Formats: sequence, structure tokens, C-alpha cells
Amino acid sequence: MKFYDAHNHLQDERFAGRPAELVAECAQAGVARMVVNGACEGDWPEVLALAKAHPLVLPSFGYHPWYLGERTPEWRQNLEKFLDAVPSAVGEIGLDRWKPGLPYAGQEEVFLAQLAVAAERNLPVSIHCLQTWGRLEELLRGQARPAGGFVLHSFGGPVEMIPGLARLGAYFSFPGYFLHARKERQRAAFRQVPADRLLVETDAPDQPLPPELIRFPLADAAGKPLNHPANLGTVYEGLAAVRGESVEALAARVEENFLRVFRVTA
Ligand SMILES: [Zn+2]
Repeated sequence: MKFYDAHNHLQDERFAGRPAELVAECAQAGVARMVVNGACEGDWPEVLALAKAHPLVLPSFGYHPWYLGERTPEWRQNLEKFLDAVPSAVGEIGLDRWKPGLPYAGQEEVFLAQLAVAAERNLPVSIHCLQTWGRLEELLRGQARPAGGFVLHSFGGPVEMIPGLARLGAYFSFPGYFLHARKERQRAAFRQVPADRLLVETDAPDQPLPPELIRFPLADAAGKPLNHPANLGTVYEGLAAVRGESVEALAARVEENFLRVFRVTA
């Protein structure tokens, strides 16, 4: 069985000095490809370096809503430069009304600029959305979108919105964090995702699995737990159980979906 991580942050500074070892452990654990999402101009060079060093890494470049305050006046040209450098995706981009203290003003403008870049280049785009699903759908519906579709990473939106978002081209990505007992609403939503739009992710180093499910424990220098991207297989097992199917059947389906939306070959 091959596993595909639709969303992680291998370049995260909490993993500094460890990516080669993490990638080797992932390969050993059956991870065939992983989409490594940049979050700001400061980390795009590291994402590019990881893609050059590890064929398993599919790079993605974008401005995450949490880091918009860091952007330079040339951020958009800079983004295009990284997209020109290597076959890549756009992301992580998004909208966030959840994070305390984060200004919403300006988020839509940067989101739409990056969506336009993805649409023009027909590149898959990974979208973060917290507590603003209605507005996200409205913006997506009114804009040019990548013809090959887009990814809603850690989809936690209302189940009722799934058919409409799917018609717009959405793929829905399931993180291990949703295996925590209290995330029943999110698991129930994933029972309704069309089989040809399912993806699986770790979001490593964030979104840890419930402690009893962690096969690859990891911590930073201070002892704070980190999500190891090799936990991906366990996330597949969890989602297969949620949907009442075998992990083999799920893995075959997710492989097709991943290769289709990210335009890569196995
Ligand atoms: Zn992310």
C-alpha cells in the first residue's frame, strides 16, 4: 500500500535539522509522496530546497493567512518566481476568522490574488478555512478557479456544504486530528464526501493524532510533542474505519485522487 500526504509542513522550523531523517522514516512507512506547504516568503526557499533534495516532496508555495503581516511589497512576483522554479502547487492560502487577534482585513485580497495565480497557471491550490465557510464558498463561486480542482485542507465545514463545494471542484482532506473522540461532527461530514474527492493528510508538525494512536512519537528540543509525518498510515486506518471500508480500498481511491488533483504520476 502507498500513502499520500496531501498536506504537511516539513519545512517548519520545529523540524529543523531533521527533514532527511523524517523523509526516510516516511518512505519506510509507505509514504509515496507528500505535499509540503509553504506559509510565507520566509519559508519558500526551504520548501524549494526540500523538493530538490527529496523526490518524494511535492512543493507548494503560498501565503497562509496567519503570516500576511510579513509579506514584502514584491510578494506576488516572488511567489511567481518560486512557481516558475519547479513543478509545484499553490498553498497554503486561506481565510481565518478563528485565530484570536488575527486581523481579517486584507485576507480576502491576498487569498483572491493567489487563487487567481493558481487559476491562470491551472495549478492545484491548498486552502485553509476556519470559521468562514459561507464566505469562502461565495468567493470561490465568483472567481476563476483552477480547472483541475482545489484542496480544502483539514475540511471542517458543514456537511451540507459538501455537494456545492464538490461541484466547484473541491477535494476534501482528512487530518489525524479528527480521530480525537470530540471530533465526531467532522468525522460524520467525511462519511458524505464523494469517494473521488477524498484526500488524507498529517499537517505535520501540527494536528497530532490521539496519543493512543501515535506510532511515530516525536518531540522538539524542549520536549513539546510534534506530529511525525510517518503517522500518515494511521490516519488512513482511522478514515477507513470512519467510512466503513478497508484501508486497502481507501488507499487505492486516495492514490487516484491525489495523482489526479496534484498532477503527478505514481
Ligand atoms: Zn497547514
